[in-house]
Amino acid sequence: MNSPDPIAHAPTQTNTLDEAIRTDALDCVMCGICVPHCPTFSLTDNEADGPRGRISLLLGISQGELTPDADVSRHLDTCLTCRACETVCPSGVAYGRLIDNGRARLARESAMATRPLAEARGWRLLRDQLLTRRRRLGAAWRIYRLMQRIGLGGVARRLAGPVGRALPRQLTQAAVRQSPAHHATASRGRVGLFIGCTGAAMNAPAVAAARTAIAAFGYEPVIPSGQGCCGAMHTHGGEPEAGARQRERNAAAFKAAGVDEVIVVGTACTAELGGLEASHDLAVREITAWLLEREPAEWPQLARIDYRIALHTPCSQRNHVRQPNASRQLLESIPGLELLEIDGNERCCGAAGMQVLLYPEQAERLREPKLASIEQLAPDAVVSANVGCATHLAAGASLVVKQPVELLAESIVAAGR
Ligand code: SF4
Ligand code: SF4
Repeated sequence: MNSPDPIAHAPTQTNTLDEAIRTDALDCVMCGICVPHCPTFSLTDNEADGPRGRISLLLGISQGELTPDADVSRHLDTCLTCRACETVCPSGVAYGRLIDNGRARLARESAMATRPLAEARGWRLLRDQLLTRRRRLGAAWRIYRLMQRIGLGGVARRLAGPVGRALPRQLTQAAVRQSPAHHATASRGRVGLFIGCTGAAMNAPAVAAARTAIAAFGYEPVIPSGQGCCGAMHTHGGEPEAGARQRERNAAAFKAAGVDEVIVVGTACTAELGGLEASHDLAVREITAWLLEREPAEWPQLARIDYRIALHTPCSQRNHVRQPNASRQLLESIPGLELLEIDGNERCCGAAGMQVLLYPEQAERLREPKLASIEQLAPDAVVSANVGCATHLAAGASLVVKQPVELLAESIVAAGR
């Protein structure tokens, strides 16, 4: 990974958090260069909903000059952690670390809560008991898939309450299945495959494609059963200790499986697990980037697949792991694909982990211009390297949304026919 997140060593005590917040916030010279790049500022034109304003709020809190009420907390809470501001900042302000520390700081004081306690507990319960549990989420997904097949998708979305509006309108089947023939050739070594909480649900087609592609390149993909959620929802939701526990669990699972390379299906999880490179000597690679690193001799034969593809670049790919061109490069290696530009591709789609559930109106307003651009392009499919963005886009319109590795696997399988 090019740019491991510094989150793994986030402080946890209030005074230590204040010190860390102050140190990062004082790097900001308040020039405002970042402000027009901020998606939430673009929606409200309110300085407090942009990076410079949020940094000022955090500085005030950390210095004991500002007592945050629900309004102040909301300005901080609605940040998407997209880190578009960080990539354009000439002073090198570590905004991602700053807002994560800020949220951890606010989470320690219930008076600063942006929503009633019962509601906050409900969301935490949903996150901890369903969204971050692969088997449970997989089972719920199968029920949703079944209801969609029998024409009751709309009913299922209504029954799912606030979660329903975040569910995709059209579910895509895995384009490829794991191929035993490819496994027979796997001789270049074993690599770990991280599939996260969504690997048995909305990300299952991409996981199947990743297994096929890895095997076709001559490697054996190993999926340790002890792996779990990457911890991103906790880390960016004010609970860094819980995020760290998830990372430790994953490190132990991959170490026990005897692999030293972890390939991740999804850019947001890659960013979260990046810290394991330094702390546990595990190489962490997003699947698209890993495939691009293969030597020419390792590439399998690819068949032409004639699709018009609208490419979406997730913030986690652009600003967190800092590999903004990886999907494009991989797709350009597949014969027959025509790549189309989505207007405003550099701006967050609004999904942003739990934000799509916590602030659905904000998420949908940010998605609107993308869907309008996609409608104009009329592609055969939209491609995004992050399952959260893919799901959010597919919840807004009847779209086929895939990950780059799915198209590569489709081309590989077509060549083998
Ligand atoms: S975060 Fe960086 S770009 Fe934004 S106001 Fe501060 S110094 Fe300027
Ligand atoms: S992380 Fe994104 S939403 Fe948050 S302040 Fe920076 S640009 Fe705005």
